[in-house]
This record gives sequence, C-alpha cells and structure tokens, in this order.
Amino acid sequence: MHRPGSNTDDMQPGDFLCDFCERPWDGLASMVEGHHGSLICGKCLTIAYRALVMDQGECVGPGLTCTLCTEERQQAEWQSPVRAEAVVCERCVRQAAQALSKDPESGWTRPV
Ligand SMILES: [Zn+2]
Ligand SMILES: [Zn+2]
Repeated sequence: MHRPGSNTDDMQPGDFLCDFCERPWDGLASMVEGHHGSLICGKCLTIAYRALVMDQGECVGPGLTCTLCTEERQQAEWQSPVRAEAVVCERCVRQAAQALSKDPESGWTRPV
C-alpha cells in the first residue's frame, strides 16, 4: 500500500509499505504487487507460505477479501498480525512465491 499522505507524483521507496507488516520498502528488498497498489514483502510472504502451503492454513473469512487479488475465496488465507483487514489467499501466496523464486535478483527462496 502507499503511505497515507504520500505525494503520488513523487513516490519514494519509503512511500511503499507492505500491506501486511507496514514496513516501508527500502528500495532493494523484493515485494510483490497485487491489485490497487497492494504489496507483500518477502518476509511476510515467507510467513504466509509457511502457514498456507507447508502447514494447512485455514479460511479466515467469511467477509474478508484477499488484499492482493481482492477476491473472497473459500480457501486457506493468512491474516496479517498487525492489520486484521489484510489477508492473503493461498493462490496469491503460491503465485507470488513462484514469481519471486524465478527472479534471481529477488534473493527470495521458498522456506524449507
Ligand atoms: Zn511485510
Ligand atoms: Zn488472493
């Protein structure tokens, strides 16, 4: 997400925040973008991947839509520990993990 009050004509790396931990982007670490400027950082992706893909996650809903794809899915979701409204579905976690692990510059690897 974008930092509230940031100048949209002159966005700095620190104006981009992870929707799930609210950490500002340092301009280097890998982030995956979803709909409407939503972002998930590599650290949150690792936690979400562990929870949903390696462990059996559970559906958090009803009524909560995935922050990245904006859809409500009947499948496991991971909920942000700092923003209760921020959830990510298993499908988006898998897609983001695939995108980052294919990009050698991301430095992100699937947790084992
Ligand atoms: Zn994060
Ligand atoms: Zn999703």
